This record gives sequence, structure tokens and C-alpha cells, in this order.
Amino acid sequence: MSDPGGREFALLGHPVGHSLSPAIHRAAFEALDIDARYRTVDVDAGGLEGALRAAARRGGGNVTLPHKRRAAELLDEPSRLVRATGACNCFWPRVGGGLAGENTDVQGFLAAVGGLMGGGWPARRVLLLGAGGAAAAVLAACLRAGAGFVDVLDRTPRRARAMARRVGGDGSPVRVIGAMGRGGVGTAPGRGGPSAVPDRAERPAALALPAGAPGEPYDLVVNATSVGLAASDPLPVSLEGLGSAAVLDLVYGEHETAWVREARERGQLASDGLAMLVEQAAASLTCWLGVEPPREVMREAAHRAAGRTP
Ligand code: NAP
Repeated sequence: MSDPGGREFALLGHPVGHSLSPAIHRAAFEALDIDARYRTVDVDAGGLEGALRAAARRGGGNVTLPHKRRAAELLDEPSRLVRATGACNCFWPRVGGGLAGENTDVQGFLAAVGGLMGGGWPARRVLLLGAGGAAAAVLAACLRAGAGFVDVLDRTPRRARAMARRVGGDGSPVRVIGAMGRGGVGTAPGRGGPSAVPDRAERPAALALPAGAPGEPYDLVVNATSVGLAASDPLPVSLEGLGSAAVLDLVYGEHETAWVREARERGQLASDGLAMLVEQAAASLTCWLGVEPPREVMREAAHRAAGRTP
């Protein structure tokens, strides 16, 4: 491995102050003895293109809310996954000039599922909650990994149908099965995730599966909505009737979410979004520098930065 020397990587978003990514990447650079920095850049939509090009000249970086979609449009060389999802969260300078980019949330999700359920692709039947940027990455990952079908629920079914068409295309095994309940999503406290998880008796009610939903025996249920960011949020969907499905909540914070805790108490495999965050960061590191990421160091840094015991 050649030391790239003095490169700088940037996380572009708004807001970005709460992000755990700087701690994860700085720990990786230190462990690999790479002379590089990672900083956050709070940028609005109007400043995104200039910020992307300036950051690419210094090394590259990541993109987070609310800019992943716009970043995908600005790339000169979008990857296949960026084109499929319409979202870019990782960019670097293109050979010959311009911007190249990838959606490493896809790899992050696949690695998190592998860590939760075991190797190969263990989830033939998937229930996906959400139709935003993260949900598109999850859907692309499930379809490429070999899911038999993916049922989608979103608060806005029109948005879910558009996502299914864009990511899956004609004839894909994706079904929009109704409208998800409307959670009262609170303002994210602290670092952007639950800072306290109430005991079972005090937990808010779960949003119900819509009447008429197939109630399939799913292998995996994924929350890719913002429901759960605040401790007072309802559970994204009731686990009642979802049998032994593994539960992956993309939300993360100082504590595991109430939904993850509930699933564990019911004896289901469950994980929050911290593992996926670490894995998308690991995949980004490989895109920028072609190195093998020090995953355990990155995982420990993420847990420490989130306020958890590694
Ligand atoms: P996004 O594009 O803004 O999408 C937000 C999603 O949440 C949409 O499906 C939206 O439904 C839904 N939603 C928002 N408020 C809701 C409410 N009150 N009730 C029901 N549904 C509601 O955001 P995103 O980038 O996809 O991120 C979604 C979540 O995934 C966030 O919590 C984010 O932190 C997390 N995430 C985690 C990782 C990771 O590495 N762990 C990576 C990416 C994202 P509508 O379509 O109806 O608006």
C-alpha cells in the first residue's frame, strides 16, 4: 500500500455536526498509518457542487442528508449502484478529471445483514419500511443479493411505487403493499439517534401493518425510515405477526432503538444501524484508497463516538 500523504476527506451535508463519521475515519487513518484528515462541511444545496469539486481535489469524501440524490446527479462517473439508487454517498476524483462516485450504503447494508444473519444471502423474503434514499440502497442491495421478493411499506405509497420502478424495474419481485402508519417522529436528540430507550411498559405503541397486508412470513424486516430517531417515536411497525423475522433498524444513536430491544425480547435476531454505518465507511475507505479497512478499529471508534461501550 502506498501512503497517499496529506490527503483530506470531507463529509458534506446539512446538518453534519452530529456525525460519527469523522471519529470512524480518523481511527482508520491512524490504524493504517495514513497521513490524511477527515472533516465535516456543512453545505446547503446551492453550495453542494462547488464543495464536491473542491473536496474531490483534496482526496474525496462522503455525502449525507439531504444531498445524496443531488450528488448522484452531479457525478461525471456514477457507479452502477449510484445509477440504480439515484443516490451517492461516496465520491473521489475521476481519472482524467471530474467526479466519480459510489453508493456504499448498499455494501454497508449487505455486510450488516451478513453480520446479523450469517453469510451468503439469508433473506429470501424481505419487508422494507421506507422509500427515501436509505430505502433505495436497501432495495438495490436485496435485489442484487437474491431476495425472492421485497414488500415495501411507506407513509407515501406513491413514493414507494416510484422507488420500486426506479430501483427494481419492470418484472422485479417488489410489491408496494399499502401505506405505513404515520409516526410522530420527534426531533433527533444529541447525536441524531435515541439517547434513551424506555422500558417495555413505557414504550410507545407500534405502528400497525396496514389492513390487508399479506402478513408473509418474512425472513428480514428493515426499518429505513426516520421513525425511531426520538425515544418517544412509535415502533416503526408492530412485530406482532411477523414471526421470527430478523430485524434490522437503520436508525442508530447512543442506545439501541426500542424496536431492536423489543425484537430481542421476542427472541428475534436484531441490530440497529451502527454496524451498517461502520461498513459503509469501510467500503468508502476502499473506494478512496484501495486499502483493506481496519473494521474492528472502526467499529470501536463508532461505539465510543456514539457514547456506547465498544
Ligand atoms: P429520507 O430520504 O429523508 O427518507 C425518510 C424516510 O422516513 C421516508 O421513507 C419517509 O417517508 C419516512 N418518514 C419520515 N418521517 C416519517 C413519519 N413521521 N412517519 C412515517 N415515516 C416517516 O432519509 P434517508 O436517508 O432514507 O434515511 C432514513 C433513515 O435511515 C434515517 O434515520 C437515517 O439516519 C438512516 N440511515 C442510516 C444509515 C446507516 O448507515 N445506518 C444510512 C443511511 C440512512 P415519506 O416517503 O412518506 O416521506
